[in-house]
This record gives sequence, structure tokens and C-alpha cells, in this order.
Amino acid sequence: LEEQLRQSQKMEAIGHLAGGIAHDFNNILTVIVGYGNFLELDGSLTTLQHEQVGQIIAAAERGSQLTRGLLTFSRKQVMNPRNLELNALVAQVQTFLLRVIGEDVQLKFTPAQEPLNVYADGSQLEQVLMNLATNARDAMPEGGTLTIQTCWQQVDEAYARSQGYGAPGRYACIIVSDSGSGMDRATRERIFEPFFSTKAVGKGTGLGMSIVYGIVKQHKGFINVYSEPGEGTTFKIYLPEGSSEAGALASDPGLAAPATG
Ligand code: ADP
Repeated sequence: LEEQLRQSQKMEAIGHLAGGIAHDFNNILTVIVGYGNFLELDGSLTTLQHEQVGQIIAAAERGSQLTRGLLTFSRKQVMNPRNLELNALVAQVQTFLLRVIGEDVQLKFTPAQEPLNVYADGSQLEQVLMNLATNARDAMPEGGTLTIQTCWQQVDEAYARSQGYGAPGRYACIIVSDSGSGMDRATRERIFEPFFSTKAVGKGTGLGMSIVYGIVKQHKGFINVYSEPGEGTTFKIYLPEGSSEAGALASDPGLAAPATG
């Protein structure tokens, strides 16, 4: 628990740093793209120059994309939460997940018997599942199994305290496991850091898991990882049970869903 609290404080510090840099950096990139677009229209440019300006714009736009990832991590993204049921959400994204994992990986989904009502941003949760599936696939180059389970889980005071935030109570859980390469401790401790990647250059940005972390935290949820080299990896995500008060607001079409937090 001590270890988890230390980890949570580290992520908090990185989040502040990343958010600040991302914000300023994005302004700089906006200037580059803006003047680039302007220059591109200049009829006196040679074909080569025109192409080079195009490269500058493309690179700056790629930078913007990375910055957006960082902003998700540092919780500076707008959240659009609604009442939704997790089993239905997972069932709905299954087709996309199958596309991500390819033919050599089996997908097994075991939904909880009861409905799992949460107040959450559906498209952000879809992104969480897609990012987890992408990493699972990369960890299983020879094929394997991706397992998704959902359940209710009671979180006690001690656990919530160990996370450094959040409250005890009932949480909906999504458990995502793969039968892939697994991770050693040094890797496991760093996976949520922005730009941390063990993949070949050009293969990974190191943002996938930091985006997952940012989304889960923005939902006031928790994420745990269990992994050993050669034994596969399991991620367990906790999302607080949907509150009836928030539900009443969200289901009233006359009222915009409030952004929580
Ligand atoms: P990227 O996938 O671009 O490297 P991520 O932030 O998504 O960035 O992941 C960071 C690192 O965490 C990966 O490079 C990999 O080392 C490790 N990782 C994440 N998920 C898994 C997994 N399911 N199995 C093994 N390693 C993983």
C-alpha cells in the first residue's frame, strides 16, 4: 500500500509537469501550423519548397497529436459523462477490439450477471479498451488470448487511502488480461509515465497507458496492474458506481451533463 501511494504521488507530479508543458507547447505548434498554412498558399514557392512546408506542417500536427495525449493524461480534457452500462459498452466495442487484436488472438468476454451502471464518458472508456487491446496484441506476437471480465467490487477505506485519492464504496470493475510476454518490475513501475515505451522507435509513442491512467483518474477510478515476465498481464480498472443524482441530471434532456471534478 505504501508503494501504491508513492506511485500515485509520482504520477501526480508528472501530471502537473506534463500538463504545463503540453499547454505551452500546443500554443507554439499552433503558430507553426498557422504560418505554415499561410506560406503554403504562396504561389511563388518552388515545388520543392512547397513540399518542405508541407513536411513542416505535418510534423507540427503530429506534435499536436502527442500534446493532446499528454493533456488527456494530465486530466485537462473535457469529459462528457452519461449514465451507461459497462457490459453493454464492452459488447459494443467488441468488433473494434477484434479488429485491433487480429486473427491470432482470441477474445473472451465474460460479463457480470448484474448490470454495471456507471456515470462515465463512453468514448473515453472505449479508448481505454482500445489502448489496452493494442498493448495486449503487441505482447502476444505469436497469438494468445485476451480476456475481459466485468464485476462489482467493494473498495474499503485502506485501499482508497493507498491510492491517494477516491472514496470507499462500490465500484464497477473491468479486468483485462492477456497471455503475452508480461513485464518485469522495472517496466511495470513506469508504464503509466508519458513517453515511456519499450517498443521499437516508431512502433510506440509511450502515451497509450498514460492516456488510460488519465481517463481512469478523471473518472475518480483506480487502475492496478499485475504482471510477471512470461506470465501475461492483467489490468484491473475500478469505476465508481453511477450516482442517482448525476443520473437524474444526465437523463434530463433539458440539462447539460455537468463535468464532475
Ligand atoms: P507504447 O504502447 O506506445 O509503448 P504505452 O504507454 O501504451 O506505450 O505502454 C508503455 C509500455 O508498457 C509498453 O512499451 C510496454 O513495455 C508496457 N506494456 C503495456 N501494456 C503491456 C502488456 N499488456 N503486456 C506487456 N507490456 C505492456
